[in-house]
Amino acid sequence: MLEFLKLVLMLNRLTPASGLTAERIAAIQERRLRRLLAHAKRHSPYYARKLAPFDVQTCQLSDLPTLSKAEMMASFDTVVTDPAITRAGVEAFLSVPSNLGTYYLGRYGVSHTSGSQGQPALIVQDRDALMQTFVVQFVRGTRISNRFFPHLERLWRPARMAVMTQHPGFYPSGAAFGYLPAAAKPFFKVLHLSVFDPVEESVTRLNAFQPEYIVGYTSSLETLAREARAGRLRPGATGTLRQIINVSEPLPDASARLIADAFQVPVTNEYAMGECMCLSSGCLCSTGSHLNADLAMLEVVDKENRPVPAGTRGAKVLMTNLYNFVQPIIRYEVDDLVTLSPKSCPCGNPFPLIEAVSGRDKDRLWIEVGGEVRDLPYYIFLAALHGEHDLAEHQVLQTGPNRYVVRVAAQPDKTLSAERIRALVTQSVESEGLGSALHFDVEIVPEIARGPSGKAVRVRNLAGPPPAGAH
Ligand SMILES: [Zn+2]
Repeated sequence: MLEFLKLVLMLNRLTPASGLTAERIAAIQERRLRRLLAHAKRHSPYYARKLAPFDVQTCQLSDLPTLSKAEMMASFDTVVTDPAITRAGVEAFLSVPSNLGTYYLGRYGVSHTSGSQGQPALIVQDRDALMQTFVVQFVRGTRISNRFFPHLERLWRPARMAVMTQHPGFYPSGAAFGYLPAAAKPFFKVLHLSVFDPVEESVTRLNAFQPEYIVGYTSSLETLAREARAGRLRPGATGTLRQIINVSEPLPDASARLIADAFQVPVTNEYAMGECMCLSSGCLCSTGSHLNADLAMLEVVDKENRPVPAGTRGAKVLMTNLYNFVQPIIRYEVDDLVTLSPKSCPCGNPFPLIEAVSGRDKDRLWIEVGGEVRDLPYYIFLAALHGEHDLAEHQVLQTGPNRYVVRVAAQPDKTLSAERIRALVTQSVESEGLGSALHFDVEIVPEIARGPSGKAVRVRNLAGPPPAGAH
């Protein structure tokens, strides 16, 4: 009962009020930041040392030291604010699969990031932070609207959400569902699907479940869009489908259009990370997402940690999680290339708009045209490949200066023609005026392996960065 009351209060507190302004959000953010800094300095030996020179009630965030993942993991036992938590203890807990959904030390939810950028990070959260992760998913960035009382109907008509990611595990979104608060369960029915299962099986289960929301990676949502276009997947048959939510992979406009056309519902895009699952919620009128600035701070910076203006893409971000007091994460360096919008969003959401997030720097494609090196947007290939309906998955490799390989795999029982793929890509490349500069080969392969977390690895740069001085 206590947990239920807590949930109700949290639902009410985190549902954006109709009159919420940017100033009000900034005031909440400031209050939470000061509370976090004071708590970290008092209870975490690591931060006691790092923050010693600063008055945490008046200092500027931009003066504080940054935190790399390597440092957070090396200093894990002193970063956390409860001395009972240890890295060895968390690792031992995570090594037992049956611990999923149970609480480390009887009170903490634990997860690990995928380690796609080196070692995985371990994340420890208390029950309040876990409940908040659930509530934010529920009340922000979805078409469920204002205040608690409309949510009441969910008690007799629970939200139906299909999640197509990977098999249950301690990865961040898996753990978020694994630790669903008991009080929240009546509101919510979840169907878990894995990208590693045969697609026909997922289609059958989705047709039976009739979800209101489908959550997945861009690559898995594209697979479902093709099934819908072919008439096999009919999640809208009873008119229940309301929204598609993309997580964990960048959502290029061409993919958003493909998915929206196939399902005839809005597609929203969430940018989050295991270290801060509440980072943003999808915008309801664009493929951007709104930074939950009352729960997290995001500094978009250049390589030397200097801020870049809104409207300009940064070289990385520094993320501060304002709700995890067990493992304070302050100015955490992440190599995502993020552009904040300089304008307020036409959808009316007062939270800052994250316009675009693109892949990691090391996998950016580049091309030299007339002696000048430029970024080569991956959508040039993607938009072309969307013209091939029998395609299952693809990957673009840069193998040298101006040289690329387009790898494609067909859907089961279909075949692909290299000539046709070549013609589609050539058309797209020529329409961008790059016909004479860009050289590519097409490889047809039986399948393209997914990364360990089930995400598609669609762009790889084997050639490395452009020659020094060329940029
Ligand atoms: Zn918006």
